[in-house]
Amino acid sequence: MKKKERRYFPMVISAPSGGGKTAVRAKLLECDKRFRFSVTCTTRPMRPGEADGRDYYFVTHGQFRRLRKSGRLLEWARVHGNLYGTPIASVARLLRKGFIPVMTIDVKGARSVKRIFPETVTVFLLPPDLATLTARLKKRRESPENIRIRLRTAKKEIKEAGFFEYLVMNDRLEGAVSDIRKIADMECMRVSRRRTEIKRFGRQLLRLKL
Ligand code: 5GP
Repeated sequence: MKKKERRYFPMVISAPSGGGKTAVRAKLLECDKRFRFSVTCTTRPMRPGEADGRDYYFVTHGQFRRLRKSGRLLEWARVHGNLYGTPIASVARLLRKGFIPVMTIDVKGARSVKRIFPETVTVFLLPPDLATLTARLKKRRESPENIRIRLRTAKKEIKEAGFFEYLVMNDRLEGAVSDIRKIADMECMRVSRRRTEIKRFGRQLLRLKL
C-alpha cells in the first residue's frame, strides 16, 4: 500500500522536572488547535488538581506490566521510582486525525519515540536558570528529598540536550509557546512533508502544451 503523506508529525517536548513543560503544554494546546496532547500512563499517584485521562492515565503496576508486555507502549521508562509509558495508540490516533500529537516525556523517551517515528520533532525546554528551576520545584511542594532527586536527574538530562533539534528558553510562558508554534510552522514547510503539493503542480506543468 502506498504510504500516505503526512503533513503533521509528533512533537516531543522534554525539560528537566520543574522546567515548565506542563504549563507550556497547557497554553500551547489552548491557543493552537493543530496540537493535541498525547496522554501517557504512569504508576505514580495523582497529584492534587490532576485528572485521570487528562494529565495521565493513572494505572496500577499490574496494568502497566500488561500494557508493556502486550506491546502497546511506544516506549517506557522508570522516572524517579515511578513507571511512565507512551501508548502507541494515542499517538497514532492523533496523527490519523491530522493533529500534531504532543508528548511531554523524559529525554530517554524522546530518543525512543524518534527511533520509532523518525519524523518526530524534538524540543528541549530550558528554564532560564537554576534558581528558577529550584523555585518552581519548591512551589510544587516537592519534599527536599524529591527536589534533590529531580535536580540530580536534571544534571544528567542537561547533558542530553544536544540530541534535540530545537531549544526553547522558558523564561516567559508566552514566549516559549510562541517559539514552539514557530517551530511547527517551519516544520510544516519542509519539502519532505509537502511532496503531494509539488507533485500536483508538476502534473499541471506536464499538461501544458509548450
Ligand atoms: P511527573 O511525575 O513530574 O509528571 O513526570 C516525571 C517525568 O516523567 C517528566 O520528565 C515527564 O516528562 C516524564 N514522563 C511523563 N510521561 C512519560 C512517558 O510516557 N514516558 C517517558 N519516558 N517519560 C514520561
